Amino acid sequence: MVTEIVSSTELKKIAPVFGQLSFNDHEQIVFCNDKDTGLRAIIGIHSTVLGPALGGTRMWNYATEWDALNDVLRLSRGMTFKSAITGLNLGGGKAVILGDAKTQKTPELMLKFGEFVHSLGGKYITAEDVGMTTADMDLVRTVTPYVTGISEDKGGAGNPSPITAYGVFMGMKAAAKYTYGSDVLEDKVVFVQGIGNVGEALVEHLTNEGAKVVISDISRERLEEVRDKYHVAIYEGDNLYAEAMDIYAPCALGATINDETIYQLKAKIIAGAANNQLADETTHGKILREKGIVYAPDFLINAGGIINVYAELENYGRQEIIRKTENIYNTTLEILSRAENQNITSHQAAFEIAQARIDGRKKEK
Ligand code: NAD
Repeated sequence: MVTEIVSSTELKKIAPVFGQLSFNDHEQIVFCNDKDTGLRAIIGIHSTVLGPALGGTRMWNYATEWDALNDVLRLSRGMTFKSAITGLNLGGGKAVILGDAKTQKTPELMLKFGEFVHSLGGKYITAEDVGMTTADMDLVRTVTPYVTGISEDKGGAGNPSPITAYGVFMGMKAAAKYTYGSDVLEDKVVFVQGIGNVGEALVEHLTNEGAKVVISDISRERLEEVRDKYHVAIYEGDNLYAEAMDIYAPCALGATINDETIYQLKAKIIAGAANNQLADETTHGKILREKGIVYAPDFLINAGGIINVYAELENYGRQEIIRKTENIYNTTLEILSRAENQNITSHQAAFEIAQARIDGRKKEK
């Protein structure tokens, strides 16, 4: 491999470091590299104003390293606002490990990652995200206390996904109440895109309520498994976005609402678990508003998982986890009404409340 040496003067001409990609006043970015285990990870600490930066670790086979950096920057920022609007005393952080979780994740790699987390002294606390399991968090726990989402038999709150799904269900019901005047989802056509840990649990809530659920996933095996379990329909087409539906629930990866898809969308409501659903919060938020599509902000309605892991730090129990998660219903309704009254997007309305809480804490300090 030939490495091109660029002088610092030339580099300065190319672009500034701060202000690249999705940098948005991030406090600290940590690049973790370990040749022996093959670990390449990036920890993004967006804010520690409200508390330690807590957020999951995602292992993903990114097309480029820039994609990985961009993802961790966007995700960690999202965590700041998620915890702020949920009323938790946590900042925002996230980590990404570059690689294929199915073939490249080894115990040695996870332990090395845990050592990097530990070196930050609690400023960043990790948890599970895509490509991670509760067992991985248990392993990380052997080298650092700065990890949540560990198994219940080890004193943790367990897998956060069912609670995340319950929160998304609450947010979806609130969006239905706002849109249709009733939060009953019976007979509503709901497309769930991505039937992983969260998606499947959401399908269960929806089918229990009598919604007409259509599922999509890149894994045929998962599709058949979930179809057989809940008697739902598999989407067999090749452009879900253009399909007639009441509710679109993105539960796979982010940025599915983008320049290509947004004008095709026929859904009346968007409510799902994926982080960063809008490729561009401002532009796409406005277009959704103009199209009359009600968008339940992702960072608000997918907060069940962080509520669940926060219980491990604050020592509250199951009842309080459920109470806080059910409150997502009220907050979503409040945000949607506020957006309408102020003629702003729902994303903006949620963002402003979160930012006000952060600014208030800064003043107290
Ligand atoms: P997961 O890895 O268990 O499931 C993701 C599913 O999406 C998989 O079944 C995968 O095959 C599928 N998928 C991937 N690309 C797809 C595509 N292009 N089209 C259709 N399906 C696709 O992840 P999860 O834990 O269920 O999380 C889902 C989303 O919710 C992620 O964006 C995650 O960041 C977010 N989220 C999860 C939690 C949680 O508690 N797990 C909390 C907050 C947010």
